Amino acid sequence: MRERIRTQIATLLPQASRPPHAVFIQVGENPASTTYVSAKGAASQKVGILSTIERLPASISQVELLERIRAHNDDAGVHSILVQLPLPEHIDPRVVIEAIDPRKDVDCFHPENVGRMTVGLPGPRPATPQGIMLLLEHYGIELAGREVAILGRSNLVGKPMALLLLEANATVSIGHSRSRDLGELTRRADIIVSAVGRAGMLSAAMVKPGAVVVDVGINHVPLLDEQGEPVYDESNRPLSRIVGDVDFAAVEPLCEWITPVPGGVGPMTIASVLENTLTLYKALELQ
Ligand code: NAP
Repeated sequence: MRERIRTQIATLLPQASRPPHAVFIQVGENPASTTYVSAKGAASQKVGILSTIERLPASISQVELLERIRAHNDDAGVHSILVQLPLPEHIDPRVVIEAIDPRKDVDCFHPENVGRMTVGLPGPRPATPQGIMLLLEHYGIELAGREVAILGRSNLVGKPMALLLLEANATVSIGHSRSRDLGELTRRADIIVSAVGRAGMLSAAMVKPGAVVVDVGINHVPLLDEQGEPVYDESNRPLSRIVGDVDFAAVEPLCEWITPVPGGVGPMTIASVLENTLTLYKALELQ
């Protein structure tokens, strides 16, 4: 995907007056946000998208943040704006999301774009669910008429995932923290998408043999040595490793396909951000 996007940008550049430009805004110093924003910025640069990472202090007021967003909305040289969530407590993410020009809303957070997606109109789609759809399509995984169980109902992943799968004619169930029996949902599913954020959430007993499992979760768990003891760095801080929601070792032998963590849904999310930036750029510059 990255190579195709890079080639497309190189081909489009002579017809356009300026290159695509993505702005990534991070408020505060959440380490996970720093990692995501840096990865998106670096991936953009590699395909020929100019990227600006704007790191703002956690103390910034909501009014000041909205002013920054409006400045990027008004700047014809900026084609996409991404505000990395979560935001500090004193800032209402709904107000911030609504302030982004829907034509520059690369993550499809703005209610106008969410509405367009809901009724199947063209527009950006949220990067993580879109990346998963592309992954399923790439591996030729049939969706029409098949049972899909999604664990998690967030606006970021679970809900839009359900909409995109419905659009592809899957039969979709959504489980969440108030569901009575998640295993009952997942055991009958041909495809399971887990987006909860809990290590070990999906056990082997919850998976039907031959299922396709997509693991969205990103969880930091303590790194243990061979004796099962925590490992520390030179400053005596416990080290951690990243795992998904799925008990990979136990579930993998049952599956037709399964995504690893790290290295599965994460890179697809980044590739989808690039793809969306290109789409927004073409709509703003070339039509
Ligand atoms: P979120 O907003 O915290 O939503 C988590 C969802 O899981 C909620 O719907 C919640 O239910 C449900 N849940 C929590 N505990 C549960 C339980 N014990 N049983 C059943 N459902 C439970 O998280 P998110 O933003 O959707 O992200 C989910 C995970 O994906 C996180 O680990 C995040 O880091 C990761 N993520 C990865 C990528 C990527 O690119 N790889 C992108 C985005 C997110 P309620 O609604 O009932 O509270």
